[in-house]
Amino acid sequence: MIIKPKVRGFICTNAHPQGCAAHVQEQIDFIKAQGAIEGGPKNVLVIGCSTGYGLASRITAAFGSGAKTIGVAFEKAPTDRKTASAGYYNTAAFHAAAKQAGLFALSINGDAFSDEIKAQTLAAVKEHMGKVDLVVYSLASPRRTDPKTGTLYSSVLKPIGKGYTAKNLNTDTLKIADITVEPASEEEIANTVKVMGGEDWELWIDALQQEGLLADNCRTVAYTYLGEKLTWPIYGHATIGKAKEDLDRAAKALNERMASVQGKANVAVLKALVTQSSSAIPIMPLYISLVYKVMKEEGTHEGCIEQLYRLFTEGLYTGSPRLDDTNRLRMDNLELKPETQQKIEALWPQVTEENLFDITDYKGYNDDFLRLFGFGFDAIDYDAETDPMVPAPFVG
Ligand code: NAD
Repeated sequence: MIIKPKVRGFICTNAHPQGCAAHVQEQIDFIKAQGAIEGGPKNVLVIGCSTGYGLASRITAAFGSGAKTIGVAFEKAPTDRKTASAGYYNTAAFHAAAKQAGLFALSINGDAFSDEIKAQTLAAVKEHMGKVDLVVYSLASPRRTDPKTGTLYSSVLKPIGKGYTAKNLNTDTLKIADITVEPASEEEIANTVKVMGGEDWELWIDALQQEGLLADNCRTVAYTYLGEKLTWPIYGHATIGKAKEDLDRAAKALNERMASVQGKANVAVLKALVTQSSSAIPIMPLYISLVYKVMKEEGTHEGCIEQLYRLFTEGLYTGSPRLDDTNRLRMDNLELKPETQQKIEALWPQVTEENLFDITDYKGYNDDFLRLFGFGFDAIDYDAETDPMVPAPFVG
């Protein structure tokens, strides 16, 4: 089939296998060019390994530190008529590159919140690694079924307390208009914490620890975003922010429980970037377009892989990690520089549909969005007949 992007709202419903492979290869090349990560991990489990920050974590561990990796993701396989999801093709490309480099990799496709997938993953860790020395928790999901009760919880992206009206870019029509988001109910707040809070991270670490699968000095990290004034009403101080606060609670509890293996749990604060998840958050596309503009001008722009390389070298595997007073590893330091935020805040009210491509780097944002699905790579002929069927990279 001929595979061209099919964008509906903030998602792209197809993906290009060779384009996704090119995207993965670019990230591998970046990590290889940095040289080996001193003291890096050797046996790594990445929960949410197929796209965005989780994929970058896996690539950094494997190609920067020579680690064996086991990954868990929730992805769609291809059919004769429909492409696979980007995360499926990314995982296939990762496996091919890992094999070529002689690096062990195993991936499991299924619901990471379920007891079944946890059990399957633990068995794989036991068989292929013995113990893990790094567990990355990088899930972004709109819903979660509680494995104990079977109840399905859905998260919402809403402010807390009062409604919020802000400038929003519709990435389909490129129209800019105010949107109003009504405040969340108490139940919606609790449900969002249930989906995106720390409970499932704790369940994973507890399960690994009970089976004796955490190596001495094991590290675990879960990702969050804090942001600043412009995004607080819809992120930091909103339902998703409440869920992320719960990660801090979980990290504290895990640190106590992991003391018996001298383990450490940290939340890592990463910068705002276009991923399949962030493009769904109101106002984020416009905010990120401004972040791109200002940070590219400042020479401080980073993608997922640059952030992850810094997380490993300036956070997890260094004697002097950049920690804040809540024990979080801060990799958002460049985005949150006061002068960077001031420039973004000054530009924000000036953005109109007419000057969108001048004042903001919406082009850069949109190019990166399409690249998430394997589109926009020079080396790929998007007019060529392409086979969507790529052998499954997942076990089971
Ligand atoms: P993403 O959508 O690119 O990745 C999500 C991953 O989770 C994918 O691998 C997907 O397959 C997997 N997944 C989702 N539901 C699953 C399920 N039920 N079972 C198994 N796997 C499942 O998202 P991302 O932006 O890379 O987000 C990862 C983490 O980083 C999130 O916690 C997010 O809040 C955080 N974060 C994101 C940003 C940002 O700007 N994108 C900034 C800071 C922190």
